[in-house]
Amino acid sequence: MIDPFGRHISYLRVSVTDRCDFRCVYCMAEDMTFLPKKDVLSLEELDRLCSAFVAKGVRKLRLTGGEPLVRRDIMWLFRQLGRHLGSGALDELTLTTNGSQLSRFAGELHDCGVRRVNVSLDTLDPDKFLAITRWGKLDKVMAGIRAARAAGLAVKINAVALKGVNEHEIDDMIRWCGDEGLDLTLIETMPMGDIDGDRTDQYLPLSLVRSRLMEHWMLDDIDYQTGGPARYVRVRETGRRLGFITPMTHNFCESCNRVRLTCTGTLYMCLGQDDAADLRAPLRTGDDGVLADAIDEAISRKPKGHDFIIDRRRNRPAVARHMSVTGG
Ligand code: SAM
Ligand code: SF4
Repeated sequence: MIDPFGRHISYLRVSVTDRCDFRCVYCMAEDMTFLPKKDVLSLEELDRLCSAFVAKGVRKLRLTGGEPLVRRDIMWLFRQLGRHLGSGALDELTLTTNGSQLSRFAGELHDCGVRRVNVSLDTLDPDKFLAITRWGKLDKVMAGIRAARAAGLAVKINAVALKGVNEHEIDDMIRWCGDEGLDLTLIETMPMGDIDGDRTDQYLPLSLVRSRLMEHWMLDDIDYQTGGPARYVRVRETGRRLGFITPMTHNFCESCNRVRLTCTGTLYMCLGQDDAADLRAPLRTGDDGVLADAIDEAISRKPKGHDFIIDRRRNRPAVARHMSVTGG
């Protein structure tokens, strides 16, 4: 699949549920309204839809959410999709998780062919962790990370940089990841969906974080690509990679290779734009040709890029939907 700007689309991210067992302050309001269950695609439908993308050339699938591991029977979907690894049609099947259920599922994920997981973790302080996630327990996530590694999964930590919350803890996280042998990626907050509070209070530009880090660490630019938007350096003192995802201070759209599917079958061709294509109706015709045409039509509308701005005067998110709908 090639979009109008010549970008090769080979990466599909799928939000398998909009529900979550956490309520992170930058992601959700505490009192969220979730989709009625009847609007959500069944696991069989998600399998058919993902497989249609694989047939069209998608090489990497990431399940996300909401929290993917809270969806009932989600291992069934991992197992089904794992068959595309076996056939060679897919290079990677992976997930982004808050880690709360990893102790339970790590072994099974490995059995299904998953080899890497991204775990979102913004702080190493249990009280701060509770304040950020509202409902999360740090020790459960730590146990999940240990279980994942024991099962043979490589773990990458994703941390959202939050002004006044974890901004002075990033050195500690680099040190901890170094000791544990984990890569770390820092993410800027993006203005998506109404939350309780003002996003300009949370926004911390990574350009600032990076220049502060350079006072204590030797950061060597490296040419490492995972097919995601992060730019990596190697921390000379720890030997680990450190990634920066900077949608606000640096536009990464020119190399964008992905599209995002929601659990209702809506395809967003860009994280930062509202334009979308409904694939549920074509899927439910039961005709694979109709579905393939609908996917082609959607890709032909992929926009050049996003225009996120965090603007105190407008005081509204750049896109109305929450990150938990498209999964980040
Ligand atoms: N629940 C899983 C998790 O937390 O990893 C998967 C879904 S979550 C929406 C995916 C990623 O998006 C997480 O790393 C989270 O920190 C990030 N995220 C959520 N809202 C965000 C926002 N407004 N700006 C930047 N990143 C955000
Ligand atoms: Fe849940 Fe992930 Fe959003 Fe936190 S970031 S509320 S864990 S979906």
